[in-house]
Amino acid sequence: MPELPEVEVTRRGVARALAGRTISAVAVREPRLRWPVPAPVLGLAGRTVRGVKRRAKYLLIDCGDGQLIVHLGMSGSLRVLPAGAAFDKHDHFDLVLGDRLLRLRDPRRFGAVLWSAANGAPHRLLAHLGIEPLSRALTGARLYALTRAHRAAIKVFLMDSRRIVGVGNIYASEALHRARIDPRTPARRLSPERCARLARAIKATLRAAIRAGGSSLRDYVGADGGYGCFQLRTLVYDREGRPCRRCGATVRRIVQAQRSTYYCPGCQR
Ligand code: ZN
Repeated sequence: MPELPEVEVTRRGVARALAGRTISAVAVREPRLRWPVPAPVLGLAGRTVRGVKRRAKYLLIDCGDGQLIVHLGMSGSLRVLPAGAAFDKHDHFDLVLGDRLLRLRDPRRFGAVLWSAANGAPHRLLAHLGIEPLSRALTGARLYALTRAHRAAIKVFLMDSRRIVGVGNIYASEALHRARIDPRTPARRLSPERCARLARAIKATLRAAIRAGGSSLRDYVGADGGYGCFQLRTLVYDREGRPCRRCGATVRRIVQAQRSTYYCPGCQR
């Protein structure tokens, strides 16, 4: 599944290719994605793309009077191709901009293409999202305040998108290792100092993955059509039984909220 770093890398590629260009046509070959593609999307020809933003894992293509919302779901990818490029049965959506097009390919169809008018209320999918981990809003003090009421383990807390968005399973394990915090620690037990360390670790982990161009997703294709082959060199994730890169103790795997957590019992307390 594309995670925040992959979506951010895709955003940068898509923004470079689309900003300032005018939409000349829209092709919806399969409207039955996770939700039906709404009618206004079919009438986008003539709009100019002003920029491409991201909120959590949603790409927001600014068309002036509203934004096209694209989510990659489980298996979606976006590519920029020459206009008229041949398509196959998984290529459900094209946004044509003169000599090029933006194409959504999504074999499992859990992705989405939606529309949010600029003069309306925020789209319901964007209304209840937590804070952006790479924004200035995520500080140690904010994390400390957010965790006070939570008995749940800090690893489980980090993956709740109503609190913080975009810290997926890989990055939660990695950030906790970087911050030297045991993933089973109840969130509300973390001291201000540990919250500050964790906030910095979350940002550092996500930035490292963005630099690496995304992580290890077999079906991820970057916005330029190149495969995301640059696997993040993980500290603990998927390294059960192997030595911790920091202290040499043996990395363990446990299951929390039905997801695997990897951690080092030697240096995560
Ligand atoms: Zn260790």
